[in-house]
Amino acid sequence: MSHLMQTYKRMPVAFARGEGAYLEDTNGKRYFDALTGIAVCGLGHAHPRLAATIAAQAGNLLHTSNLYEIPEQERLASRLCERSGMERVFFANSGAEANEAAIKIARITGNQRGIKRPTIIVLDDSFHGRTMATLTATGNRKVHAGFEPLLTGFVRAPFNNVEAIKLIAANNPDVVAIMAEPVLGEGGIVIPNPGYLAELRQICDDNNWFLMLDEVQTGNARTGRYFAYQHEDILPDVVTTAKGLGNGLPIGACLARGAAATALQPGNHGSTYGGNPLVCAVANAVLDEIDENQLEQRAAELGERIQTGLREALRGNNAVLEVRGKGLMLAVELREPCGHLVGQALEAGLLINVTQDSIVRLLPPLILTNEEADDLVARVAALIHG
Ligand SMILES: *Cc1c(COP(=O)(O)O)cnc(C)c1O
Repeated sequence: MSHLMQTYKRMPVAFARGEGAYLEDTNGKRYFDALTGIAVCGLGHAHPRLAATIAAQAGNLLHTSNLYEIPEQERLASRLCERSGMERVFFANSGAEANEAAIKIARITGNQRGIKRPTIIVLDDSFHGRTMATLTATGNRKVHAGFEPLLTGFVRAPFNNVEAIKLIAANNPDVVAIMAEPVLGEGGIVIPNPGYLAELRQICDDNNWFLMLDEVQTGNARTGRYFAYQHEDILPDVVTTAKGLGNGLPIGACLARGAAATALQPGNHGSTYGGNPLVCAVANAVLDEIDENQLEQRAAELGERIQTGLREALRGNNAVLEVRGKGLMLAVELREPCGHLVGQALEAGLLINVTQDSIVRLLPPLILTNEEADDLVARVAALIHG
């Protein structure tokens, strides 16, 4: 009997080592990792520079606490602000925690403005995490089920529907913020209409709300820009990120500008580990790698190449509804539920994910060669052709 709580239905495989886009299991079988631990290992596995950074930092200092200045954290914050247009950063240890900080920023600001029940608009099919506040914010009943009572202070609206938000604006004076993913990740790689984020920005400006974007999955170059909102000419008030920022070390970040950047003051929020010297040294190295190898642009190119390749390879296959994606957030939506493909792929030495029952989700590393990208297309096409 396993002594682990059964929070995950695990595949019957354990990995012993990795290199770049590949993993090797405890029996020596090799796998193409097109999931990267769910959009985490964007630089691939066993990255030499990250390994060296971890070793050097571990030999120097792992942790001191946020009671003291942490130069690596200061440097990471300033670099994240420079590339995002934000002004200040709070560091946490996960995506959910980064979103908790965003939710607290919205609530404390609302309370300071005399709003009795500060309310955040959240969207259907979104995913924001598994803590009580972030599961409440999540637009998926399966995530809520059994954990009622949920928190108050959230209202729900359909994704990619500006009129629904305007209706709430006209009727709910307690709203203080909208929280949204620029592209739905767990929700099935759903890309909103062009201009959607700009329209949300306008509504937030008109109503004095914060626009809070959850870029936990979309951030860190994955969609072809550092943050996905940078595809549109807008700035949010708050942006959260995590996954790809640490390439496997636990880090979350809540970035903010303007009033949102100064909402939290000493005593309002904190984290023992958040932004410790080790994770920040590694995240700084992740940014160096993204910059030196122009991985934003590379993610965009690879994404186009893989989408084009998949469309070509799957043309005429009636099981396929759509191939879509933004950078290296890619989906093949099928007409029928296809959860069984995950096990078949594993068998064939390929790691993928199926979300929303019938959507094959690919989140490959940003460091693929063109040959590896073409190989991925061939493997996924073979899997779907069956
Ligand atoms: C994964 C994810 C989260 C939760 O991150 P954790 O690190 O698991 O807490 C939140 N939002 C989005 C969009 C995610 O993809």
